[in-house]
Amino acid sequence: MDNCVFCKIVRGEIPATVVHQDELTVAFMDIGSVNPGHMLVAAKPHVENIQGMDDRLAAAMFRTAARVARAAEQVLHPQGISIYQANGKAAGQTVFHAHIHVLPRWENDGMEFTWPVKNPPREALEKVAAQLRAAL
Ligand code: AMP
Ligand code: ZN
Repeated sequence: MDNCVFCKIVRGEIPATVVHQDELTVAFMDIGSVNPGHMLVAAKPHVENIQGMDDRLAAAMFRTAARVARAAEQVLHPQGISIYQANGKAAGQTVFHAHIHVLPRWENDGMEFTWPVKNPPREALEKVAAQLRAAL
C-alpha cells in the first residue's frame, strides 16, 4: 500500500505524533484534532475497514482504544470520550485504512451527530436479525 497515508505512518515514512504502539496497532494524534487529545488508533496491517479485520486485529484495535482512552481520562479530565469509527465514504470515512477515533469530549464542544430515529416495527427488526444470524 505505497500511497496509503496511514501505512506511511506505520512504516515511519511520514511524521506522526505517536502515543502508543504494539504489534498490531499504532495510536497517534489526529492532525485535524477536533478537541485536545484527539487520537487515532490505526491497524498496522493495511485493512480498509472493520469488515477487513480478523478477530485478533479487531480485539487489538479496541484494546488500544481503551488504553489510550484511559490515558486521556487521566491527563485531560474530559467530560466524556467519544469513539468514532467510519467504514466507507457514505459513513464519513476519508482515509481508507481502518482506524478508530478516540475523542475527548466537553459539553458544548461543537461536535454534532444527528441520529434520525426511525423506530421500525419489531417484525422489521426480527427479519433483518434473522438474515444477520444466518450470515454469522
Ligand atoms: P475518517 O474521516 O474517519 O477517515 O478520519 C480520518 C482522520 O485522519 C481525520 O480526522 C484526519 O484529520 C486524520 N488524518 C489524516 N491524515 C493524517 C496524518 N497524516 N496524521 C494524523 N492524522 C491524519
Ligand atoms: Zn494503509
